[in-house]
Amino acid sequence: MSLIEVQSRIKKAALKADRNSDEIKLIAVSKKQPNDRVESVVDQGHRIFGENRVQEAMQKWPSHRKKYSDIEIHIIGHLQTNKARQAMKIAQFIHSVDRSKLAQTLAKLAQETGNCPDLFIQVNTGEEPQKTGIFPTETTKFVTSCRQMDLPVCGLMCIPPINEEPALHFALLKKLAERTGLTYLSMGMSEDFETAIRFGATHVRIGSAIFGPRE
Ligand SMILES: *Cc1c(COP(=O)(O)O)cnc(C)c1O
Repeated sequence: MSLIEVQSRIKKAALKADRNSDEIKLIAVSKKQPNDRVESVVDQGHRIFGENRVQEAMQKWPSHRKKYSDIEIHIIGHLQTNKARQAMKIAQFIHSVDRSKLAQTLAKLAQETGNCPDLFIQVNTGEEPQKTGIFPTETTKFVTSCRQMDLPVCGLMCIPPINEEPALHFALLKKLAERTGLTYLSMGMSEDFETAIRFGATHVRIGSAIFGPRE
């Protein structure tokens, strides 16, 4: 696999779904990837990257940004409140707003600094106990409370349960986004991004299909 192959598969999936591929953002998930692979994808002109740990992002991206100021970082993993300040500094998007306490912390920091990344609310579509995220039935209420705190919520994100048909979860996320008036859907990874595109994904988060297996 490679960046070019994934880009062409996204185009094909968009075409098949009667969608414009320009409205689908490819987030290259560079977590735990060796530096030479990451550099190669940057050199090929890609500028949108996903990291699940703030500390790793802080170590990896400032040097690349010196060269390419248009690099965009998306935090996609569970975020501890004590890392929120750093996350807001390094990232332009956070996909993993998964609980009230985090939303409150982000709101407080946003007021203090006058700036905030665009946010996705992570929905636990499978209602899995071991996963974080807002339950589907709580999503509308949660989005409303984020808006009341003036947080810039732009969409919803999900990670379907491993052994279930992802299409059901993508369809649910789309329905919830429509209900809450949100435009963006962050869904689809290496194994299921074509299905996610069929169900309206606007942001696909793809790691191993671009970079190969993680360390
Ligand atoms: C690691 C990760 C991905 C990418 O996974 P791949 O299967 O390598 O494409 C996407 N989303 C989240 C939240 C992740 O943690």
